[in-house]
Amino acid sequence: MVGSHIWVKGIVQGVGFRPFVYTLAIQHQLTGWVRNTSRGVEIEINGSDEAVKGFIEQLRTQAPPLARLDSVEVEAVIPNGYTTFEILESAPLPGEFIPISPDVAICADCQRELFDPQNRRFRHPFINCTNCGPRFTIITDIPYDRPKTSMAGFPMCPQCEAEYHNPLDRRFHAQPVACPNCGPSVWFENGGAVVANGETAIQLTRQYLREGKIVAIKGLGGFHLACDAFNTTAVAELRRRKRRSLKPFALMAFDLQTVQRHCLVNQAEQELLTSRQKPVVLLPPRPESLVSPEVAPAQTRQGVMLAYTPLHLLLLEPAPNFPELLVMTSANLSEEPIAYQDDEARQRLFGLADGFLMHNRPIHTRVDDSVQRVVNNQPYFLRRARGYAPDAIKLPFNMPPILATGAELKNTFCLTRQQYAFISHHIGDLENFETLRSFEEGIRHYERLFYIKPEMLVADLHPDYLSTRYAQQRASEQSLPLLQVQHHHAHLAACLADNQWNSKDPVIGLIFDGTGYGIDGVTWGGEVLLGGYAAAFERTHHLDYVPLPGGDTAVRNPGRIALAYLKHAGLEWGADLPPVTGYSSTELSLIQRQIDKHINSPLTSSMGRLFDAVSALLGICQHISYEGQAAIELEALADFNEESSYPIELQSEIINVRPLWECLVRDYRKGISTPLLAARFHNSIARLGLQMCENLRSQTGINHVALSGGVWQNIFLLRRTLSLLHAHNFIPLIHQQVPTNDGGIALGQAVIASFYP
Ligand code: ZN
Ligand code: ZN
Ligand code: FE
Repeated sequence: MVGSHIWVKGIVQGVGFRPFVYTLAIQHQLTGWVRNTSRGVEIEINGSDEAVKGFIEQLRTQAPPLARLDSVEVEAVIPNGYTTFEILESAPLPGEFIPISPDVAICADCQRELFDPQNRRFRHPFINCTNCGPRFTIITDIPYDRPKTSMAGFPMCPQCEAEYHNPLDRRFHAQPVACPNCGPSVWFENGGAVVANGETAIQLTRQYLREGKIVAIKGLGGFHLACDAFNTTAVAELRRRKRRSLKPFALMAFDLQTVQRHCLVNQAEQELLTSRQKPVVLLPPRPESLVSPEVAPAQTRQGVMLAYTPLHLLLLEPAPNFPELLVMTSANLSEEPIAYQDDEARQRLFGLADGFLMHNRPIHTRVDDSVQRVVNNQPYFLRRARGYAPDAIKLPFNMPPILATGAELKNTFCLTRQQYAFISHHIGDLENFETLRSFEEGIRHYERLFYIKPEMLVADLHPDYLSTRYAQQRASEQSLPLLQVQHHHAHLAACLADNQWNSKDPVIGLIFDGTGYGIDGVTWGGEVLLGGYAAAFERTHHLDYVPLPGGDTAVRNPGRIALAYLKHAGLEWGADLPPVTGYSSTELSLIQRQIDKHINSPLTSSMGRLFDAVSALLGICQHISYEGQAAIELEALADFNEESSYPIELQSEIINVRPLWECLVRDYRKGISTPLLAARFHNSIARLGLQMCENLRSQTGINHVALSGGVWQNIFLLRRTLSLLHAHNFIPLIHQQVPTNDGGIALGQAVIASFYP
C-alpha cells in the first residue's frame, strides 16, 4: 500500500475533471479524495504501487477533452487508511486564481440528445453538459458555481439535481445544467409583444427567415441579426438597415457538409470550423454557390461558422425550402458594439429587425464571435473573442501584476500575473460610450475573476486614446506608475510574446500598420524597428511622410490619399487617373490647397494608407464604408501568379515610394490589367521588407524578423513576404494567439512594462 498527493493545475474546473478522477480512482481500486481549490485540483490516493502508477499515467494522458493540464505535481505520502474514494467540497485558498473556461460549442453527445425524441431534453435550446455550453459569458463572480452565474435564477429540478450530484454523470457539476422543466426558455417578440413561446417561437423565427425577413436572435454572447443568405433582397435590406456599410457578413451553417457545398475547405480549416471554439473561418466560396453576392461584396473569402449552441442548431435544422445558410451578423449599427441585454437590444435594434427571438438566460459579458483564417496550415486570428477568452496566453517568464489598456480601435486589454497574460476578448472601438463602458466593466471583471491587483499601468503613447485617458486617470487616483509605450513597439513586442520569445535580444520588426502615434508626434505606420522587450528601440527606416488632405476625411476617402501620393511622387493629376476623375475641379483645387498650405493635412508614414492610395489609384476603391476596405479589395484582386515588382528607393532611413508610383501610373496608362498591377504592388512591398531585413542583418547579424501590425492581415503580402524571408534564411515570426491588428497591442504593452527597470 502506497500513498500519493497530487496537484493538477490548468483548466481543470467546470470541464468534468473531478468525475474523471473519480471514475479513474474507482477503476484502479484506489481510496482517498479529490477536491477543487483555487490553486487547482488536489487529489490524495491510497492503493497498490501498480494502481497508483497506473492512475497517474492515465490522469496525465486521458484527461477530458476540455481540460488543459499545465502541471501535475506528485508527492509520495504515508497512506492514510481511507476506505472510500470521495469528492470533497471546494476549498478556495486566499489570493490564488483558477483559470476560467471560455464558452464551449455544443458537444456531440448533447447534439445527439437534442435531436433524440426519447431524451428528456429533446429540442431543449439550452442543453449542455460538463463538456460544453456557456461559461465565461454567464459567470458573474468566482468561485465558478451556479449561484455566481446568470443561471442563478433557475433552480434545478430534482432530475437535473440528481445528475448534477452524480460523479458518474456527464452533467456532474455542470453549472449551467438545465432541462425543459427547470431551464431558460425562448419566446418570439414582435412590436414589444410576445407572440410565440418555446418550439412555436423557433418555428416562427424560421418562418420569418424563410420569408426573407430579418430577425434579431439572442445567442450566447450577444444578439445576431439573421436572414436568408440566398435572398439578395433580404441581405440588401439588412445592409441598408445597418447603415449601408459594405462590411462582409458572417454566415452560419448547420454542419460541415453544408459549408463544404458552398466553400472550399482544407483539412486545417475543417479542424478549425469543427473545433470546440467554432470560430468564424474565412473560406474561399465555390464559384457555383448561390449565396447572395450582397453577403460579402468584393471579397475573395466568406466568413462561415457552424451552429455552436443548441438554439442555433434548432434554428438551422435542415428542411426542404429552408435556407441552409443564414447571415448571422453582430446586432448593431455599423460601429456600435454588439447588443447583449434584452432592453438594450429592443431599443437599439428597433427598426433593424422584423422580430426578436429572445431567451431569459442573461448574458453577463458581451462576447463577439471570433474570426480566423488559416495561413500555412496554422490558425491566424483576426478577432479573438468567443471560445478563446478568457484563456490566458502562457509566457515563458513571470510577470508582475500589470494592466495594459491597449489601443483605441479593436481594443483588447491585458492583465498579467505569474506566467499568464489574460488578454481580454475583443472589446471593440472605444470611440463610443457603450464600448467604453464594456472596457471599464471588463477590466473590473477580469481583475476580480483572476485576483489581479495591478501594480503598474501601461497605455499607448497617443494622448487622446480613451484607453490612455483611463490609464492616466486610474494611475493618478491609485498612485500607480504609468508607462506609455509607442504603438508600433507594442506591436513588435506582442509578436515576440506571442511566439514565446524568451530573450532580451532585439529582433528586426517589419511593423506595417494603419495608424499609431509616433514619438515625434506624427502618425506612424510603415516602420522598420530594431527592438525587443526593452523600453528602448530603434526606428531604422520608415515610409516617407505624406500629407493626408482633410485628415479623417482622407482616411475615409482613399482617393484623396492617392492625390497626395501622386503629388509626393512629382506626378501630374492627369485627367485619366481614377482618383482625379472622382473629384470636381473645385474639389481638386481645394485638396491641392490643403496639401500646399498644410491645411488640415496631418503627415503620416502609414503603410495602410499607402495600400489605400494604390487601391484608389487603380480605380478599385475611392471611398470606404468600413476600416480597411480599400486595402482588402486591392488584395482581393491581386493575381498571385504574377511575380514581378517595382523599385522602391531608400534614402538613408527614408523609404521613398516615388519610383513605385511612377511605374504604377505608367503601367496603368499602358492598360496593364488591375490584377497584375495589384500583384506587382504587393510584391514590391514584400521585396522592400526583404531588402530592409538584408540591410539590418548585414549591420547586426540578426536573423529573426517579427511581422506585426494591421497590414499583415493581408494574406497575399504575408505569404509573399514569408517565402522571401524563408528563402533568404531569415526566421520570420508571425502572430499565432493574438491578432496582428490592434487586438494584440495590449499584450505587447504588458510585456514591455514587465521588462521596465
Ligand atoms: Zn455537452
Ligand atoms: Zn431540470
Ligand atoms: Fe496598430
